[in-house]
Amino acid sequence: MKVLKFGGSSVSNAENCNRVKEIIKKNYKSCKQVVVVSAFGGVTDELERCISIAIDRNKEYEKGLQALKNRHLKVSKELDLPESAESLILKKFSELEEVLKGVYLLEDISEKVKNMVMGSGELLSSAIISEFFKKSGMNAVYFDSREFIKTQNGKGVYLNSQQTLKNLNNIKEADFELAVFPGFIASGQKGETTLLGRGGSDYTASILAAGLNCSELEIWTDVSGMYSADPRLVSQAEPIRRMSFQEAMELSHFGAKVIYPPTLIPVVQNQINVRIKNTFLPDDEGTLISKTPEEKRSVVRGLSSVNDINLFTLSGSGMVGISGFASRFFTCLAKNKINVVLITQASSEHSISVGIQKDDTEMAVEAVWEEFEMEIKMKLVNDPGVEENLSIVAIVGEDMGFTPGISGKVFSVLGRNGVNIRAMAQGGNEMNLTFMVPTYDIKKVLNVIHEEFFETTYKKVNLYIAGVGNVGSKLLEFVKNQYDFLMEEKGLQLIVRGITNSRKMYFAGDENILSCWEEKLNKEGEKANLQKFVQKMEQANLRNSVFVDITASDYVSKIYQQVLSSTVSIVACNKIAASSGFDNYMKIKAAAKKHNVEFMFESNVGAGLPVISTINSLIDTGDKIVGIDAVVSGSLNFIMNEFNNGCSFVDAVKMAMEQGFTEPDPKIDLSGMDVLRKLLILSREAGYKLEEGDVEHEPMIPKSCLKGSSAEELLKDLEENNDYFEQWRKVMEEKNIRYRYIASFKNGKASVGMKEVSPDHPFYDIHGKDNVISLNTTWYNDQPLIIKGAGAGAEVTACGIFGDIIKITSNS
Ligand code: ADP
Ligand code: ASP
Ligand code: MG
Repeated sequence: MKVLKFGGSSVSNAENCNRVKEIIKKNYKSCKQVVVVSAFGGVTDELERCISIAIDRNKEYEKGLQALKNRHLKVSKELDLPESAESLILKKFSELEEVLKGVYLLEDISEKVKNMVMGSGELLSSAIISEFFKKSGMNAVYFDSREFIKTQNGKGVYLNSQQTLKNLNNIKEADFELAVFPGFIASGQKGETTLLGRGGSDYTASILAAGLNCSELEIWTDVSGMYSADPRLVSQAEPIRRMSFQEAMELSHFGAKVIYPPTLIPVVQNQINVRIKNTFLPDDEGTLISKTPEEKRSVVRGLSSVNDINLFTLSGSGMVGISGFASRFFTCLAKNKINVVLITQASSEHSISVGIQKDDTEMAVEAVWEEFEMEIKMKLVNDPGVEENLSIVAIVGEDMGFTPGISGKVFSVLGRNGVNIRAMAQGGNEMNLTFMVPTYDIKKVLNVIHEEFFETTYKKVNLYIAGVGNVGSKLLEFVKNQYDFLMEEKGLQLIVRGITNSRKMYFAGDENILSCWEEKLNKEGEKANLQKFVQKMEQANLRNSVFVDITASDYVSKIYQQVLSSTVSIVACNKIAASSGFDNYMKIKAAAKKHNVEFMFESNVGAGLPVISTINSLIDTGDKIVGIDAVVSGSLNFIMNEFNNGCSFVDAVKMAMEQGFTEPDPKIDLSGMDVLRKLLILSREAGYKLEEGDVEHEPMIPKSCLKGSSAEELLKDLEENNDYFEQWRKVMEEKNIRYRYIASFKNGKASVGMKEVSPDHPFYDIHGKDNVISLNTTWYNDQPLIIKGAGAGAEVTACGIFGDIIKITSNS
């Protein structure tokens, strides 16, 4: 014999009742079945609402009841039940109408009447289901749970086990083939209707399973088992195939709503296996909860969480070293039936903190005041402290106790994601690690921990991209092209969550917009607003988030501090921040460190070439950079190479502009400003404190050509100065040299300017838009370390940005 419990979602309409019938029919006659049903989905909530508005003298309760009546009548009609079912429904509702009218007039309701109203949903659903079974040719026998399941008086749910067991013993297997019981309802000592607590139909089912000596309990619901985390909060959560009673108990106790916690007590005592199954996908395996789950065990079995928990603290210098405080504290809470969900006490004994339900807090404060009034007045004990808006998270697994490093992993991943743990506790058996975090962070917390322990497959990385011009589009193309590779080989899933340019911005949910971002941005995007963009990113509060700055905007660089303090990393192609005042550069780096996130800007120098990372790793290994010589302007090189090939200087500039090798304002290149900024960045990364004014700076072209405000004016001025540039050509030919715009740093001195290089110099032959960076270090002393390759262009720049993103996400 087995018990099958169908939850509210499984019996919410006629179609679902049909599913239930099919499930029962499968084993009809081959095995005795006891069916327990909840009220139709949402009915208990609605009855509760009707009560509370009737108390408030709001006549709307009548409409609520009417809608409920219609809903039940509709199901009865659709299932084609006999008239007697309809009469029963009408009778029940006329009773409810009478009762609630009284409540409305009295503006009050007794516990007894309230239970009667609240339990009506189960009486209705069980009667309907039972009639439906009969109509479908199955010989269903209806039992009223109140005649069997007895409760004791008191706050909370107290089963009168002895009496219940005795009553159930009176039911003989021979009495039925198929039995139907309403869930949730029971009766008290005087026969009055009592309830087993919200979600209590699960409990009804397990009480019956134990009392009727069943071999198995099946909980049929709307998900395929108990998941590794609440599937509404963690989309990657998966059903756990097998788990122990203890694990299921811990998970349900800490919020895994799929099973009501007391449910496990009767089945554990009687070693009855529990299966959680999906009414909508009955062939899915579901979860088997048993004494010894035989399965390749993952150390952590699941996570769960409960919101609306407050941290309640008793503290004071008068507590140190004096015995009895803890005992008085807990006794006064227990006397008031305040459920303590977590306890911590620092070894100084200066404070004891407990996690309690939000609704119990007022009572707890009163209780502590009453108990410790004298000590509080004498300032030996402080006013009780209450910290609100917290959630409790439990990480559960029977093998956790034998595996070191679990808490280390949990706390470091939370730290990296900027989550502040307010209190923590670990049970002596180490099968449950529990801690409290701000409710605001709960989704992030569950997801990062889930990712850490369960998602061996891939880690989600959330990108917020500012600037989708040439380079930005290329980056998105890379992400799209590498998407499958990254998932399969690196276990990374890059998700673009937000995109903005100077005109529009667009936010994507879980949808993959890599193939349609342009259309989404242009057609569905809202007006761009950088502050709002960052706010949305903060509100989303997603783990592993990266803000990618592919603009050249001063305004965007000003929000870095804010971004980093929201524990979002930054990858910048924008050079402004790293080359701004040294103080600002240091502040941004410090903010990244403080918030445990990254600020990366490899593409600031040499596009995708590994320049900054090379300097960083040399320094990390104890080397010292003593000199830098670099040709780091791909655009200036391109211009000089075209010029050397015979093209006029102005035409070479035009070509570079057309091919997108220059900054949006080409004067930034030709003035040497871009190179100067790059040298500042390189020398700062090499450990030197350098400001812009410290760099000796000679522009590439005559200063008079840099005065105009537009690109047209610049080109006109260059044309007018053609003779000046042709003079270069003459000198180069005569002396057999080439001019290169070189950034140098030596002995603390930095300069940028045009220099002559002879054919044997490594900077003589530099093709196209290549960059060359030559580093003299303690270890690379005789022969410098040379990094050379394409250093400008949308593709290689995007490549540098992409590399930073991957580095950040692989580190985290
Ligand atoms: P029923 O109406 O069948 O009693 P419940 O709503 O009480 O169903 O419980 C099922 C719901 O519990 C699921 O739809 C799911 O949203 C939620 N839930 C929360 N945590 C978990 C978990 N760890 N595993 C499965 N479901 C969970
Ligand atoms: N109908 C009750 C509730 O909604 C009991 C149950 O569904 O388990 O809480
Ligand atoms: Mg339930």
